[in-house]
Amino acid sequence: MPKFQTIRGMRDFLPSEAEKLRHVEGTTQQIANLYGFKEVITPLVEHYDLLSAKSGDEITARMYAFKDLGGRKVALRPEFTASIARLMATALRNQPKPLRLFSSGTLYRYDEPQFGRYREFWQSNFEIIGSPRPEADVEVLSLTKHLLDTLGLQNYWFKIGHMGILRGLLSKEGVTDEQQNTLMQLLDTKQMDKALKTTKEIGVSTKGIATLQEILETKGKDASKVLTSLKETLQKYPDSMKAAENLHKILQLTQDSGIKFSQSIETGFARGLEYYTGMIFEVLIPEMTIALGGGGRYDKLVELFGGEPTPAIGVAHGLDRIALAIDKQNLPSKSIQETTAIIPIGEEATTQALKVALQLRGRGIAVEFEVMGRTVTRALQDADRRKTTFALILGPKELKDGKIVLRHLKTHKQQLVDIKDVANILSERID
Ligand code: AMP
Repeated sequence: MPKFQTIRGMRDFLPSEAEKLRHVEGTTQQIANLYGFKEVITPLVEHYDLLSAKSGDEITARMYAFKDLGGRKVALRPEFTASIARLMATALRNQPKPLRLFSSGTLYRYDEPQFGRYREFWQSNFEIIGSPRPEADVEVLSLTKHLLDTLGLQNYWFKIGHMGILRGLLSKEGVTDEQQNTLMQLLDTKQMDKALKTTKEIGVSTKGIATLQEILETKGKDASKVLTSLKETLQKYPDSMKAAENLHKILQLTQDSGIKFSQSIETGFARGLEYYTGMIFEVLIPEMTIALGGGGRYDKLVELFGGEPTPAIGVAHGLDRIALAIDKQNLPSKSIQETTAIIPIGEEATTQALKVALQLRGRGIAVEFEVMGRTVTRALQDADRRKTTFALILGPKELKDGKIVLRHLKTHKQQLVDIKDVANILSERID
């Protein structure tokens, strides 16, 4: 047994895995640009109190928390949104709204490791801050769809709900925020019966429980159908009614503007993070039971951290899980980059070959320079194994004539070309 291994729940990304993850991350950056988001980079370590303020017990209990050498209680971030809310209450407080902020990096949760669930994982996070309007909700749904389409994912579907529907009913029935949070955790972990039992114990009216049951069971693909019938049930609960109307408007706008995706509207759907106030959603593929991403509206969070009352909506995409989804659907994760191996023979040729390498890289051509001093045959075998496209071989004789051998590794065809032309020839063939 080797002495050192990765810590449980932590992973190394070997080159092909790292390439896949960076491909997904790079695509999220592209989407951020397309949708006008600006990146912010926030620290991995934050005050424990900031991170625990509104993340929910479930996440707080799983934080990597410790005292630093200065005696401060700190934690590794389990999500980005708390850091963004801190920024909104401080450095970005006076920035004109809306702000569209993008972040990407690792997060830490002491979850039980299993397929697609790690203790260190990657997210890309998008937040639109300052707009209470349905257009902002639509933008977040749209960019999520755009990301999955760009990566080539198929058959994904959105699970959509609205926190205001449940919370509106519970508040009217006198259930405290804290009790509501406990109930949301139960619903998030699919413990419906326990949630209903707890509601009875709290003393919610019979009518309230019947309505709650209906909300929990309401589910369907057609937003108009689902929400119109639900609104009849919600007559006695004006805040729930408003929430259902808000959700209806968002989904109508999405549909009318031609943003098409499969969806399931589930009004009993809740998410673990406590701070959601409006529409919430997750995105899934049929091949996996775990969500690729999720988000929602949180209109009170910035205020909680001492900022101005600021409506906001965000989404976090799980980059590890998206990479897994790409594998599950057998999609090419990246166009293979063409690489050229440069193999010098002898000392004098090495100097000249290094110059050629520099020149090619200056033209944007990827080059692997032979650093092992191997024979041409051995170096070519290795280049073959690593799926290099071309090899350039420079020996003393070619050097004297200002030439270099250009070999195509798949066809084994080779030709003698002028050193001064090699960059042009390669960039034409590679393009
Ligand atoms: P959340 O921050 O809980 O809203 O999660 C947003 C997304 O992050 C999820 O839909 C997952 O794709 C991803 N995610 C959350 N927890 C983990 C984890 N422990 N391991 C890998 N991905 C995760």
